[in-house]
Amino acid sequence: MRYISTRGQAPALNFEDVLLAGLASDGGLYVPENLPRFTVEEIASWAGLPYHELAFRVMRPFVTGSISDADFKRILEETYGVFAHNAVAPLRQLNGNEWVLELFHGPTLAFKDFALQLLGRLLDHVLSKRGERVVIMGATSGDTGSAAIEGCKACEHVDIFIMHPHNRVSEVQRRQMTTILGDNIHNIAIEGNFDDCQEMVKASFADQGFLKGTRLVAVNSINWARIMAQIVYYFHAALQLGGPARSVAFSVPTGNFGDIFAGYLARNMGLPISQLIVATNRNDILHRFMSGNRYDKDTLHPTLSPSMDIMVSSNFERLLFDLHGRNGAEVARLMDGFKASGKLAVEDDRWTEARRLFDSLAVDDAQTCATIAEVHAECGELLDPHTAIGVRAARECRRSLATPMVVLGTAHPVKFPEAVEKAGIGAAPALPPHLADLFERAERCTVLANDLKTVQGFVAQHGNRGKPL
Ligand SMILES: *Cc1c(COP(=O)(O)O)cnc(C)c1O
Repeated sequence: MRYISTRGQAPALNFEDVLLAGLASDGGLYVPENLPRFTVEEIASWAGLPYHELAFRVMRPFVTGSISDADFKRILEETYGVFAHNAVAPLRQLNGNEWVLELFHGPTLAFKDFALQLLGRLLDHVLSKRGERVVIMGATSGDTGSAAIEGCKACEHVDIFIMHPHNRVSEVQRRQMTTILGDNIHNIAIEGNFDDCQEMVKASFADQGFLKGTRLVAVNSINWARIMAQIVYYFHAALQLGGPARSVAFSVPTGNFGDIFAGYLARNMGLPISQLIVATNRNDILHRFMSGNRYDKDTLHPTLSPSMDIMVSSNFERLLFDLHGRNGAEVARLMDGFKASGKLAVEDDRWTEARRLFDSLAVDDAQTCATIAEVHAECGELLDPHTAIGVRAARECRRSLATPMVVLGTAHPVKFPEAVEKAGIGAAPALPPHLADLFERAERCTVLANDLKTVQGFVAQHGNRGKPL
């Protein structure tokens, strides 16, 4: 499989190089040159497969030429073997024909484990073949950092540096990062805010001299392998609910447009999906586009669903590419305009096409809490605030009661106790068994000044399993 850039100017790459690439050299994002398409009969024949075997069938076309079948099978079995539920992504029924796909049984209790557990193993496999080592640098306000560290902790060829804003992430989130000890794991608490951390990562990618030739890799949500891994659970859910003979609807809590874009790809690969709902919080740039053709940058609004607090949605460019007939020059023009003005609108017929593909809703904090309380009263389920936004959007945008509605359950409620508390149901969620002793575990973290040279000096001093590069 070859991958091309959404801006049309960068060289096409194979899977292995895309895995290591991050942004394309023309500033675009990589997408498959041709999407695989499965017939209904083929999809139907996968019913009842264990998750890792289904994952092999769905993702195999994306990695052929780079990873052998035998290696890929082994990697997938290992990846999904660490999940704490035998079904890996179980469905739980909330209401008549309404389901939550529980994507929070991985090591860090959020859906990002599905992609990052795989990404770490794929990286290590490819790097050991090449005899190379890499450094990962990332910034996190919470979920991504812990999932990336968990995904890379066993990697022999990767050193990972994750920056978080000192004293500005929740204790559960901090401990999920700092209690993973390993000589290739480096937690840095920056005396600054999340944007400061992110700026330092960007600056490091722009000028990599301090790494003395070691390659720098990104694990943020634009990495193609993350999107790829998320396609699988759409097939998994549909097969449990009578698909592909019957179509299924999905409601997806969305920030960077990664998870829902995976659903869009699943549909283009032949899975009958009748409805895809973009569910946002108050940071609603995607809803403003879908409902009014205004993709305009707004200020950041902190909410009770912090993992969806974004100003722009980095993967949206991948949709724009398809909406414009895969014309890279057109996408480059739109994105340049957006960079200059903070505003973007598309031609009417392209916007109509987007409206045909997606429904959308923005849900504020009060509605989020009301939904947590509503569902708890109905059936005793405790939702995390991100999932609650998905449920609210599902209930408001639903087109057919006869079609199963699946809400992606993106996090375990224990990660976001503030929202559960504000919902006023008095039930504090408990940590699951594999994290029960989280508050007793030893932590390791270095506090550094909000200064690029200091951070880069630290990476150079420790980037080779704790030793200098
Ligand atoms: C990252 C995250 C999201 C948003 O996912 P995107 O791929 O950015 O749309 C939603 N919920 C939770 C809990 C997350 O961690």
